[in-house]
Amino acid sequence: VEGFVRLDAALANDLDVVNAARVSLGNRSELEDGVLAQRDVGLIGFLMRNRHGTPFEHNLFRFHISCPIFVAREWMRHRIGSFNEMSARYTKLEPNFFIPDSVYTQVGKPGSYSFEPMDEYDAGWAQQIMLGAYEAAWDAYEAMLDAGIAKELARAVLPVGIATEFYWSVNARSLMNFLSLRCAATAQAAIRQYALQVRDHFEAQMPHTYAAWIDNDMVAP
Ligand SMILES: Cc1cc2nc3c(=O)[nH]c(=O)nc-3n(C[C@H](O)[C@H](O)[C@H](O)COP(=O)(O)OP(=O)(O)OC[C@H]3O[C@@H](n4cnc5c(N)ncnc54)[C@H](O)[C@@H]3O)c2cc1C
Repeated sequence: VEGFVRLDAALANDLDVVNAARVSLGNRSELEDGVLAQRDVGLIGFLMRNRHGTPFEHNLFRFHISCPIFVAREWMRHRIGSFNEMSARYTKLEPNFFIPDSVYTQVGKPGSYSFEPMDEYDAGWAQQIMLGAYEAAWDAYEAMLDAGIAKELARAVLPVGIATEFYWSVNARSLMNFLSLRCAATAQAAIRQYALQVRDHFEAQMPHTYAAWIDNDMVAP
């Protein structure tokens, strides 16, 4: 899948976190020479450590994402945010399928799996099996569309490895919760690679909030 994570718009900065907290005492901070004052950096750290989560909600990130359907399903389990997705009832999907760069085994039991890379021969075999299944599914999809069958029925044969795209609007508090779960080593590599790109956008928009979250062992407030 040629997926992407695009930050479509953001209304998000560190000062808004500070002022959402300072209103509690009827105060307000301003940037000093375009920079967050040291006491305000300290306040963000205090809010993060003490789990005063609501000041991190007064901001918005709007992302446009393309990824495989199985990644989107994991993503959309994150309820605190808004989603709109391409409709396969109205739109013919593109033959854009997920083939993993690295193929690995899964040993152990739930909660303590370990994933070991397969050798090149076995990895190539697995990729060929996936390609064959995708081709068969795509041929069936197109045959049904050519016969005039409704897209909403024909899509039933498509696999979860096909690409979808969606908009996701989310605030920093919920974003940190998402990132702590989906950038973790326990997350599936396929969603982690997207989550790491989301994390880069978060760091660029809210560097002090990002740093405080890292200092807090990536626990969302
Ligand atoms: C490694 C991993 C494995 C997983 N495996 C499975 C699995 O096997 N099966 C499965 O079904 N899911 C699985 N999930 C999904 C997981 O259970 C969550 O649905 C998903 O991670 C979203 O997390 P969240 O609820 O914290 O996020 P959000 O839905 O965005 O919620 C954010 C926060 O808001 C609060 N909140 C939201 N809704 C409620 C509510 N109804 N009641 C109380 N508080 C609420 C909570 O504090 C929550 O942390 C897995 C997730 C991960 C990361």
